[in-house]
Amino acid sequence: MRTGATPGETVSDEAILEAVAAEAGWMEDLLVRLVEAPTTLGDEEAGQRIMEQALADCGLEPRSVYLDADTLRGAEGASPFSWDVKAKRNVVAGWSARGSGGRSLILNGHVDVVPPAAEALWTNPPFRAVPDGDWLYGRGAGDMKAGLAAMTGAVRALKSAGYDPAANVQLQSVVEEECTGHGTVQCLLDGARAEACVITEPHPDHITVAQVGVLWFHVELAGVPAHAARASHLGFNAIDAAVEVLAALRRHETQLNENPPPPFDAFEHPINLNPGVISGGDWPSTVAATCTLSCRIGLYPGQDSGEARAGVEAAVAEAVAASPRLAENPPGVRYDGFSCEGSVVDANEPLVQTLSGAYARLHGERPPALATTATTDVRHFVRMGIPAVCFGPRGEGIHGIDERVSLRSVVESAQVLGLFVRDWCGLVPGRKEES
Ligand SMILES: [Zn+2]
Repeated sequence: MRTGATPGETVSDEAILEAVAAEAGWMEDLLVRLVEAPTTLGDEEAGQRIMEQALADCGLEPRSVYLDADTLRGAEGASPFSWDVKAKRNVVAGWSARGSGGRSLILNGHVDVVPPAAEALWTNPPFRAVPDGDWLYGRGAGDMKAGLAAMTGAVRALKSAGYDPAANVQLQSVVEEECTGHGTVQCLLDGARAEACVITEPHPDHITVAQVGVLWFHVELAGVPAHAARASHLGFNAIDAAVEVLAALRRHETQLNENPPPPFDAFEHPINLNPGVISGGDWPSTVAATCTLSCRIGLYPGQDSGEARAGVEAAVAEAVAASPRLAENPPGVRYDGFSCEGSVVDANEPLVQTLSGAYARLHGERPPALATTATTDVRHFVRMGIPAVCFGPRGEGIHGIDERVSLRSVVESAQVLGLFVRDWCGLVPGRKEES
């Protein structure tokens, strides 16, 4: 282990790159343990215990920020939710400034993952971390347990090399990014503030500066049950009703994609409607009496979720107007989960410029600043006036089958973060850890 820097010494790129590379094994081990913890909604705790241990292993003092349902329901930027959040927690750790003159920073990552989609289609069990060359497979490997490993590994490397930041750094391992973003909202309610935030989502070789908002909505359809043999004149099938409503929603989606505002005009189809779950009926020979159609739709920055809801409800009303049987059994629209705005950060922000400079020192050129047609927790920081971007390891198959992440990209992302922490926060000789 190298000795700590003397006062006034500038920490070289090489020293940082080397210190972070030395943590490659530690990061991979953390990533493997995180992937093998199946942290889907409601089961995040196993992952948070691993993160708590990892942060403690960096010489930090992790603490819990518990979700509080009542506070969240009244919070700005919160979404409606019907499930229990009691006993759910974020794990955060401060890396305290020594000296002054730097800029403070939040490094944020989410520990929750989406379900495997269709386990039978996976080559290996989704919650087994399986290496193959540079790839590590498993649900959440890319989105975004690799990011958690990279941000923690970067801080561990700088600390082990004998440095402390010249402004406070907070690491946040949050829950519920995939459904509401309430883990991050709770951290902000807890008082987390900084001059910038980087979320280490799997956005490699670019910096994500703009994102859409997302609305989850659930259309409740009622039918008139009858024997299937007499369905055509007696019954009204709630599943057929869902098909009519979905067709109207697709027309609405087409309209939303007609004239996308910049920077989303770079996409052919920026606003995606996804019918994600449909459930209804109870017997093949009975006309379905009920059906729930649960969807996700994006919205442009500048639109609020109220506007998006109005658009959805107008599409449902259009389906009703076109169908006397739907009009006799009017559908209801319920909101549960994401109800959030998009966000944009100026590409000239010092955060973007500094991070992009750090990237260039490792990779030789600056990465592009891009928009994404997904949402992330970035919006919560931006809403609070904290510039925030996404940058992280290279993942593939995110939310799909055989999700995987490049292990080399985990180390390289951590190296860029290490350089960025030096450039943004400043590094000063700190409490040297004995080797
Ligand atoms: Zn993610």
